[in-house]
Amino acid sequence: MKTGKLVVLGSINADHILNINHFPQPGETVIGKQYTVAFGGKGANQAVAAGRSGADISFIACVGDDDIGERVRRQLASDHIDTQPIEAIKDTTTGVALIFVNAEGENVIGIDAGANKAVTPEYLDRYKQQVIGAAALLMQLESPLETVIEAAKIAKDNGTQVILNPAPACELPDELLARVDMITPNETEAEKLTGIKVDSNEDAERAAKALHDKGIATVIITLGSKGVWLSQNGEGKLVPGFRVKAVDTIAAGDTFNGALVTALLEGKPMDSAVRFAHAAAAIAVTRPGAQPSVPWRKEIDDFLA
Ligand code: ADP
Repeated sequence: MKTGKLVVLGSINADHILNINHFPQPGETVIGKQYTVAFGGKGANQAVAAGRSGADISFIACVGDDDIGERVRRQLASDHIDTQPIEAIKDTTTGVALIFVNAEGENVIGIDAGANKAVTPEYLDRYKQQVIGAAALLMQLESPLETVIEAAKIAKDNGTQVILNPAPACELPDELLARVDMITPNETEAEKLTGIKVDSNEDAERAAKALHDKGIATVIITLGSKGVWLSQNGEGKLVPGFRVKAVDTIAAGDTFNGALVTALLEGKPMDSAVRFAHAAAAIAVTRPGAQPSVPWRKEIDDFLA
């Protein structure tokens, strides 16, 4: 991949997490044991992973004109992200996830996209020079699909590499897939895109082929603790991850994506970029939470030393 700047286009959410003994029934009020606000959203998580692992990155996104939006922006800036293309949208709330976690660790979640809905093609138009000037554009599917498609078109027309992490799982139009250079689904997302259930290397190979047939040169299917299936240049192989004691796999995929693109933009060959991303994600799963678990560059380098 050509080296240079990264642009991430994606979502920002504030996760409001309430730990309770049992989920309330309709009409019931339960008293919580612990309440936490954590910053998330796949776009923000991947931007943070890229910023902390050393990328030269800017992030196109929207927050609401509320306190939490301002706090998120400040946090992202402290993670070495250029936050200039993040606007606070008037009379809008920052995207939220309201999460109840019961004593068994199960969760129920309600989401409001809030300001993420304001990442429209018109909004993108204000920052399209960022996409044109970047070496790579990294996106997910928590922003309006028409904006993701438009950004891919602008990138493709201007020689910016398009990397899509197709999460959350969703079927996608060929007009988008044909403009993607590298795609990074997990097993569930690969099945949604191809109709092929990924239970073995052979399944992964078939799913990768189906995605190559859509015009995508590089397919990386993430397989949790097993690692990834890497398929490019007519060759597919398993690249195992690192064995660690996982405490919480939230944001594993996001960390993997942000670190992978960072390494590729530094000019690392694909195999060592995947190793770097595996290390970053392995560190993240040994810690609780989304963004708090994402490692800094020095930690990744120390892990690999
Ligand atoms: P997602 O979080 O999107 O579902 P995966 O679960 O496939 O993504 O994980 C993405 C990457 O995170 C893996 O390829 C691997 O590098 C790392 N990872 C995930 N779970 C573990 C684990 N238990 N131990 C070590 N690494 C892990």
